Amino acid sequence: MRSIITIGWEKTGLGWFTRKLNFTLSNGRLMANDWEKEAEYLIERELKPEGITDERVVAAMYSVKREKFIPGSLGDKAYGNYPLPIGENQTISQPYIVGLMTQALDVKSSDKVLEIGTGSGYQAAILAELASVVYSIERIEILATRARTNLYSQGYNNVIVVHGDGTEGLPGYAPYDKIIITAAAPDIPESLLSHLKNGGKMVVPAGDRFVQDLLLVEKALNGRIYKSSLCGCRFVPLIGKEGWKD
Ligand code: SAM
Repeated sequence: MRSIITIGWEKTGLGWFTRKLNFTLSNGRLMANDWEKEAEYLIERELKPEGITDERVVAAMYSVKREKFIPGSLGDKAYGNYPLPIGENQTISQPYIVGLMTQALDVKSSDKVLEIGTGSGYQAAILAELASVVYSIERIEILATRARTNLYSQGYNNVIVVHGDGTEGLPGYAPYDKIIITAAAPDIPESLLSHLKNGGKMVVPAGDRFVQDLLLVEKALNGRIYKSSLCGCRFVPLIGKEGWKD
């Protein structure tokens, strides 16, 4: 059994500041949290056995520091395989679901990707590792602002975070190679589907407010739509013109 203790001060040019240091109590000894080891455990022992095996996705999940995208008080839980609260009644998704959605999109380095539901910015960072550019829309302004800070402080300058109703997309930048919706929609938003390139892919959790199917939607080169279910899931609601009303 391990427990986490948070203490610490640090002197900077501006004086002394408290600083969050994570320690693990292991066999009676205090050890600093080793994020790399925790990430390795999560990816090797939990995600890969569950089918997250695409090498580029795995590399992206190693690269993005999840602890930088969650509230400081939850820092010690950064590499648990579960969603976490990020404020405003919203969540950062479970790492397995992030891996599954990213893998299903098959993101190429030349891709232009649209994400609906920036939240913490973590999923956008994973996409930014793989794609050319990521547009990400968040309806809650304070989350959009925080996500921008999280992303830019980590050097993800190929992500553009926009505050607004993502169900309407960003038609000015359409069409997109890939679209990912990270909140639960009552159905596939028609506007977003029309912004997807022929030959493009979309992942979207669709269903009722409490349980959804994680759908992979593929638009063939001739424009035909093919849908398949990746798994059952539970997301916070997509609220907007082509989502839930509240
Ligand atoms: N992708 C996020 C991450 O990596 O942290 C997690 C997203 S969280 C599960 C869902 C997000 O969708 C919330 O931040 C919520 O505010 C946002 N959302 C809900 N409806 C939206 C809409 N119409 N447009 C944009 N964002 C929306």
